[in-house]
Amino acid sequence: MSGQLAVVGIGPGDARWLTPEAEAALDAADALYGYGPYLARVPARPKQSRHCSDNREEMRRAEASLAHAAQGARVAVVSGGDPGVFAMAAAICEAIEHGPPAWRALDVTVIPGISAMLAVAARAGAPLGHDFCALSLSDNLKPWNVIEQRLDAAATTGFVIAFYNPVSRARPWQLASAFERLRRHLPGTTPVIFGRAVGRAEETIDVTSLDVADASAADMATLVIVGSRATRVIARPGRPLVYTPRAATEASA
Ligand code: SAH
Repeated sequence: MSGQLAVVGIGPGDARWLTPEAEAALDAADALYGYGPYLARVPARPKQSRHCSDNREEMRRAEASLAHAAQGARVAVVSGGDPGVFAMAAAICEAIEHGPPAWRALDVTVIPGISAMLAVAARAGAPLGHDFCALSLSDNLKPWNVIEQRLDAAATTGFVIAFYNPVSRARPWQLASAFERLRRHLPGTTPVIFGRAVGRAEETIDVTSLDVADASAADMATLVIVGSRATRVIARPGRPLVYTPRAATEASA
């Protein structure tokens, strides 16, 4: 029998955001692979082995999980949010493309999850209501000047931008530098949302503007959304509603 490998998105935190399909895949697995804090969110099941690895070991984890599935096991690789968004699904595909031919015969499925940008956007209103893009600020896998080109292109053509991986211990300056870059193109009043640990007990959502946005307010568990010229803030008691209208004009780009 050839093995099975499911790449499972478990959402950003709230257990109610785990889909029934993801739950079933976790239930059916003989072995779980993943970054420790993600695996910690999956309740232990009897007779299921667990293989934790560090965040930066995506390729090794992908290869180990494929090799395990190739022995005939049902393997689930766990990702936070959606596994296709800056996560394990692409690492698994890379490993299959460059790995032994037997890996291509495996039954591989990718099970979607709620990505952090969708959860943060939902908390704030509808900031992704018109065209948007997602950018990882990690320059581990791409040079910083590529990030700058993408920032310029996104801001000058009217995209709302969702920033994943805004900072880490090894990357302390990137978000401040990205804000500086965006201030060249966008008004100071452009809404900025910091969504931290959304769906978890320690969740915070802060709405501010580009002129005063403080990069030091973000950490590894934060997703930042920077609006476009069209993004609007509706003041109301408590947190404002932030949204991007469905229609665009040339002036809003
Ligand atoms: N596959 C994940 C993203 C992995 S990259 C997804 O689809 O959400 C890791 C980054 O995702 C973090 O640095 C942070 O920017 C964001 N993130 C993940 N979980 C989050 C949460 N609960 N709240 C806010 N941002 C989160």
